[in-house]
Amino acid sequence: MELQSSELSLIIEKVLKEMSKKELKEEVSDGVFDTMEEAIEAAYEAQKKYSKYSIEQREKFIAAMRKAILDNAMSIATLCVNESGMGRIDHKYLKLKLTAEKTPGTEVLQTTAYTGDKGLTLVENGAFGVIGSITPSTNPAATVACNGIGMLAAGNTVVFSPHPGAFNSSLAMLRALNKAIREAGGPDNLLTSVKKPYLEGTNIMLKHDKIRMVVATGGPGIVKMVLSSGKKAIGAGAGNPPVVVDETADIKKAARDIIAGCTFDNNLPCIAEKEAIVVEAVYEELIKEMKNNRAVYELNDEEAEKVAKLVLLYSNENNPHCASANKKFVGKDAKYILQSIGKTNVDGIECLIYRAENDHPFVQEELMMPILPIVKAKNFEEALKLAIQDEHGNRHTAIMHSKNVDNLTRMAREIDTTIFVKNAPSYAGIGFGGEGHTTFTIAGPTGEGLTNAASFTRQRRCTMVESFRIV
Ligand code: NAD
Repeated sequence: MELQSSELSLIIEKVLKEMSKKELKEEVSDGVFDTMEEAIEAAYEAQKKYSKYSIEQREKFIAAMRKAILDNAMSIATLCVNESGMGRIDHKYLKLKLTAEKTPGTEVLQTTAYTGDKGLTLVENGAFGVIGSITPSTNPAATVACNGIGMLAAGNTVVFSPHPGAFNSSLAMLRALNKAIREAGGPDNLLTSVKKPYLEGTNIMLKHDKIRMVVATGGPGIVKMVLSSGKKAIGAGAGNPPVVVDETADIKKAARDIIAGCTFDNNLPCIAEKEAIVVEAVYEELIKEMKNNRAVYELNDEEAEKVAKLVLLYSNENNPHCASANKKFVGKDAKYILQSIGKTNVDGIECLIYRAENDHPFVQEELMMPILPIVKAKNFEEALKLAIQDEHGNRHTAIMHSKNVDNLTRMAREIDTTIFVKNAPSYAGIGFGGEGHTTFTIAGPTGEGLTNAASFTRQRRCTMVESFRIV
């Protein structure tokens, strides 16, 4: 049987269409691979290509990333909350918007020049190569977006290992960013990861020769792991931020700011107010002002005991101070916590406050729930001493409400944290309603502080002798 020429051309057209579809499929990568080894290899090859792009082109890709974060902010915020079961959609949206708007790009990469009789020496910020970034469940998409911008601005490519509890939302952000980069003319696989979470993947990353820097954003366990990896490591670890209020504070404002900071994303941020320490003279007034806010509910002793039984896990039954947060309640709404102890009529409640002794686990543990224990101190001297104890040497974040410049200065110096916020909610310290850039990787343990593109670079020096001076 012979084919008519018209039939033949139809077949050829169909085959060509299929071929081009297949080629497209093969050419375009969303950055997500079956294995960690493949993800690392792809990011390594991509970095070789990326290193040939100009700073101006990097900025073009970053502009596209910022737009993609904003365009996808609501859907990814929703996905984060639905997947992880933690936090609030409205606040996750704000975090993503903040990330898009206030994460620095290449502008923070400053060159140093030395000139003199002997000529010119330049010190520039070079890329590390491929960075392994381990991200948390608490700010999953914001950390992928913020580290993605900073690490790419510095000329690196990135392999992400997201927390299993927020894996899909982290990958959704990664895919949206890769798509935006591709559409802006950039190479594939600047950001990569694996299809499914597996802990072994993180170990492979920590040992792999092609990973030149590792960055952990999470609790003490993973920070210790990256610091023991033998690679250049940045550790952004846990906090337990105290807020101190002295007798000179604007109490109405302090009450408002503390509740706003404590309830932000249901207290998930590592910078959020975790306990308040208030001088005796204004203790009752502050609690009264807080309770004027209808979203605040004060737990009595019996209720607090019931809540503690649910939200704390005790590793040693005989030691009431040996507790940790029960993950089932981390980042949950205050209403949910109240309903779990059998309370009804909880509509509109966003924060639970409790008059606590300083050794109460609500004070000592990083709960990451909208529960604010409030401790009474005799005076500022005692409040400062307790705040330093409660911060546990994390050197993370502390907050103070006061109009006494000497007290503010003394606490800022003595508590020695990476972030110290005066007379504002904690989130002002990451640029939300405060000056300065934002980040979701706050590196206290390794000292980079609020990371930005410059944190992800290596210093490189180039010397030219007896030339290139102009005087
Ligand atoms: P987490 O420590 O449970 O997890 C963080 C990351 O480490 C995840 O990707 C997880 O999969 C990985 N990980 C943990 N243990 C591991 C192991 N044994 N092997 C391999 N990978 C491992 O933390 P989380 O619950 O997702 O986040 C909350 C914690 O992170 C809090 O302590 C919070 O203060 C801290 N945090 C700090 C910052 C900061 O910038 N300093 C930012 C966000 C969160």
